Amino acid sequence: MSTAPPELACPHIRLRDGARPVLLGSRCADCAEHYFPPCRSCTRCLSLKLEPCELGDRGVLWSWTIQAFLPKAPYNGGETAETFQPYGVGYVEMPSGLKVEARLTVADAAQLHIGMLMVLTLAHYGAPERVAAALTFAFEPEGGA
Ligand SMILES: [Zn+2]
Repeated sequence: MSTAPPELACPHIRLRDGARPVLLGSRCADCAEHYFPPCRSCTRCLSLKLEPCELGDRGVLWSWTIQAFLPKAPYNGGETAETFQPYGVGYVEMPSGLKVEARLTVADAAQLHIGMLMVLTLAHYGAPERVAAALTFAFEPEGGA
């Protein structure tokens, strides 16, 4: 078994203890608004005093859908119409109130409902044969699917 850290396709993730992902964003020092991905200016108060922050590793499913067809460009997952598999996508409300759009590990409508607790995890990015080692973030239902 390899002990090398996973290759992360998203730069806005930190691995706690080398394995547990946490999202990195930015927070406005003047009005406390949070952003993901991190940014350099606040659209709420126009401040340029934004500082890096951890957004956490869990939240509440705010809304969701099932992506049932291959998205158009700039989607670059590497699948083809023949290899594409439907996936869940949703907004997860983090403790700060920020809603993060993310892929969900569940693509079954019967297992998703607004208000359920979701936990950050790592998921393969793109077609496995293309970028087998690259991982990005996704949310899964707390306690597993
Ligand atoms: Zn601000």
